[in-house]
Amino acid sequence: MVAAKAAPMRIPMQALDRKLELDTALEAVRRAAIAAMTVRADLGARGAGTITKQDNSPVTVADFAAQAVVAATLEAAFPNDSLVGEEDAVGLRGDAASALRARVTEIVSSSLARRVGHEEVLAWLDRGQARGDTERYWVVDPIDGTKGFLRGGQFAIALALIEGGEVTAAVLACPAYDLAPQAIPGLLFGAMRGSGAFEVSFAGSPPSPRRPVRVAVWRGQSLLRVCESVESGHTDQAMASAIVQRLGLVEPPLRLDSQAKYAAVARGDADVYLRLPTRADYREKVWDHAAGALLLAEAGGTVTDVDGRPLDFARGTTLQGNRGVVATTGTCHDRVVAVVQQVLSK
Ligand code: AMP
Ligand code: MG
Repeated sequence: MVAAKAAPMRIPMQALDRKLELDTALEAVRRAAIAAMTVRADLGARGAGTITKQDNSPVTVADFAAQAVVAATLEAAFPNDSLVGEEDAVGLRGDAASALRARVTEIVSSSLARRVGHEEVLAWLDRGQARGDTERYWVVDPIDGTKGFLRGGQFAIALALIEGGEVTAAVLACPAYDLAPQAIPGLLFGAMRGSGAFEVSFAGSPPSPRRPVRVAVWRGQSLLRVCESVESGHTDQAMASAIVQRLGLVEPPLRLDSQAKYAAVARGDADVYLRLPTRADYREKVWDHAAGALLLAEAGGTVTDVDGRPLDFARGTTLQGNRGVVATTGTCHDRVVAVVQQVLSK
């Protein structure tokens, strides 16, 4: 007799206690953000040590350092958990990379407040090579929006816990976030499934108290504020402009790099985030969406793909069952997806 294959465990929607995970993730991301800001403050003098990956995208010392810091912090608290990271250690190995490796090691040491060696850094980066095929794993984008990071625009550090194909805890750092009315830019967001979302300011010690994050209320007549990628290769901006026109909006889309777009919708600085496929064969990466999607869902918003399907995080490192993303405050979601469908089918 052939044994029946066990169905994948689905985590129910109700609140889960992942407080230790969330606190650890906040600490990991806060340290990684310090690493990133150290590099960004030094861009003029030292550059970012940028190298080009096989897919032609840039990776910098900040990407390597931030991922190593996150992996080190998670390893100390949850040694059995696996990690899916965007980066790997390939570009840091070999004689040609010795200067880069030394700089990454120096930044990781200062963010962790203890001296670490090259080998430890490479081992932490190697830890992030899981494929997302286990029941429980973390996913990190150490510098989401690397092009924005280098350009002086928005970027994010995004860390999420996935269990049974569902995102259960998430932390998103937007160290350059400047849409909020606060004197010093930078916000750190946290969310736990079923328990809502919050933000804290980066500035100040001790950190500011947690403030709840909620989407804006859309009453049907007010203008919808849409945001999209700065990079035209990451979203079809011409199609977005056609959608915006059909929705009867006058404000041109706000362009932001990284998952700062999810944060903008979650905290009421925008109403809609459109990510419209530029290529039929592109599949979104889990690290570009897991943290932002839970943050927005817990702030009261809705996240689907362009066809109105929920994002499916149970398929490994890419969102194989989805195309593009439509993320909104919720009340306007059906209307926006309907218009997206009309424009895409033309
Ligand atoms: P954003 O800053 O929102 O434009 O997104 C940055 C992310 O876009 C990077 O982390 C990449 O993983 C991802 N990306 C790269 N190529 C594409 C593409 N053709 N379509 C959508 N996203 C992409
Ligand atoms: Mg990214």
